[in-house]
Amino acid sequence: MVEDTHIRVLPTHVANKIAAGEVVDRPASVAKELIENSFDAEATQVDVEVSAGGRKLVTVSDNGVGMGRDDALLSVERQATSKIRDVDDIEHIATLGFRGEALAAIASVARFRLVTCRREDDAGTEVTITGGKLQDVREIGAPAGTRIEVRDLFFNVPARRKFLRTYQTELGHIRSGFITQALAHPGVGMSLKVDGRETYRLAAGSDISDRVREIFGPDYHRDLRSLEGAGPEVTVRGFVGLPTVHRGDRGEQYCFVNGRAASAPLLNYAIREGYRSLLPSDRHPCVFLFITLDPAMVDVNVHPAKKEIRFRRPSETRDAVIAAIRKALALPPCSDTALDDQSSPILPGDPGRPVAETQMKIADLIQTRTFRYPRMGPGMSPAPASGSDKGQGREAESTASEPGLGSSRTVLETAPWSWCRVLGQVKDFYVVMETEDGLVLMDPRSSHERVLFEQLMAEVTQGDVEVQNLLIPETVELKPRDADRLRKNLAVLKTMGFGVSEFGGDTFVVDALPACVKEASAKEMLIGLPQTLEEAGSRGAKGQWREEAIAQAACQEAVRARDKLTLEEIEELIVALSKTEMPYTSPKGRPTIVFTSMNELNRKFGRE
Ligand code: ADP
Ligand code: MG
Repeated sequence: MVEDTHIRVLPTHVANKIAAGEVVDRPASVAKELIENSFDAEATQVDVEVSAGGRKLVTVSDNGVGMGRDDALLSVERQATSKIRDVDDIEHIATLGFRGEALAAIASVARFRLVTCRREDDAGTEVTITGGKLQDVREIGAPAGTRIEVRDLFFNVPARRKFLRTYQTELGHIRSGFITQALAHPGVGMSLKVDGRETYRLAAGSDISDRVREIFGPDYHRDLRSLEGAGPEVTVRGFVGLPTVHRGDRGEQYCFVNGRAASAPLLNYAIREGYRSLLPSDRHPCVFLFITLDPAMVDVNVHPAKKEIRFRRPSETRDAVIAAIRKALALPPCSDTALDDQSSPILPGDPGRPVAETQMKIADLIQTRTFRYPRMGPGMSPAPASGSDKGQGREAESTASEPGLGSSRTVLETAPWSWCRVLGQVKDFYVVMETEDGLVLMDPRSSHERVLFEQLMAEVTQGDVEVQNLLIPETVELKPRDADRLRKNLAVLKTMGFGVSEFGGDTFVVDALPACVKEASAKEMLIGLPQTLEEAGSRGAKGQWREEAIAQAACQEAVRARDKLTLEEIEELIVALSKTEMPYTSPKGRPTIVFTSMNELNRKFGRE
């Protein structure tokens, strides 16, 4: 007789094996699940051991609450969890696990051994399972806490085993997972042993700052700024790297929501916006974000691996993160009251100096020098027709009135370093400086862009842009598309000091420009700006971003043509740069200065 049903209920061990694939796809996810269980069990010490990239062995031991015999047996059943009782509890979930799947899944695809003991019990329990089959349960002497050993992962699932990568790759995943967990729980002592060698031993009772230093080293730590911010229902804490430190991928962006490692497109977006105009577009900052909000406001259930989360009120979280990052980098927050004098300047070369001190030094500096922004004055801009003439003028000027580059020390007696001496220029371009603790190379063009950019933004936000009327108004004819874009934004341009009006058709008249960009070609700017406006507008961001985009475009236009600088101009540029909010990069994200410390030089010359 022919069987007439095709549908079959799978035996439990087969179902478990299939389900295992969702929770456990590689040794690193075994380690992650086990470590999270240890945290949930209130451990203060968690020790991890792996061998052969975790394929041969992953062990996690903790000193947490442990389990009694019955619980130990239940813990390896599928959908057995002590952490929720009802579906409503998911809304208020405070523990890392709650699905009750991990242990059952792991035990079904490996040789599994669990040893656990509660503090109050005389003896512990050992459970061994091989490929989902219970082998043995017995009483065993054991310290309080839980130890789980997972050997030969996927020994019974060849298809899965095939997908494991090289030893190094798997180990890399384990290590970065370990770091993520260690950052999420700085108070818990943690160690990682790889093939018998201890690679991390992190002290218990640390705060997050200590832990970051312990993991990444003091040099890295020095380039971080601490970050704090809040919205009505969200708080953000953590660290952000200076824009001078960036990576080719997001590997050093650690985000945690309510203590749980989290990823979300929204967070990526917020980080990008926070660093907007500070980094080259293909580079990524180093970020440690700890976000706290009402557990009911996040949905952690999106993905079985529980990393991707959804926010119930996305815009609040996004804005809080952006504002916190920009504040931490001493940038204006993205509001209309930007760029007030409260924000603390960061000085090049000495990111670690306390704010009060640097502010004082700048105050001294301003008193002792009359300060003027370097502008593209007649002596600096190349004259298209009579270039040689002017060039000679400059030459004469610099030999007659100046001692020459390299001869005078202490350009800046009070800032940004306690002293700084301009040594010269490389190829008439890059500026070479000696400071008290090393060598600085400065890109004068990027630096000048930064200075102009901040000046223009400051004028705009204070509402008094210095406007330069053009003697002869320029008429500019645009392509229909550019003209449309421009028309939509004439009002914004006006607040920026651009006097532009319609002349009929797609032609516009320009009769005024912001004073600090007056050397740039009006025509070039009106062709470039509409595009910038569209880009800024399409990001759907606030007016601040739009103005910033214009400022950026304008100042780039203004400094496009540069020439050899005199010592005096260089000095002024250094002073001006030291006064900016973000002296390390141009508005486009290119570096302005490259600092090489004395230590680094010594190292390079083998003098350590
Ligand atoms: P979940 O963590 O989602 O509840 P798991 O399969 O990871 O599911 O764990 C099942 C149960 O086993 C947990 O709810 C917990 O009660 C218990 N358990 C697992 N690991 C430990 C541990 N290290 N210490 C104490 N109890 C543990
Ligand atoms: Mg768990």
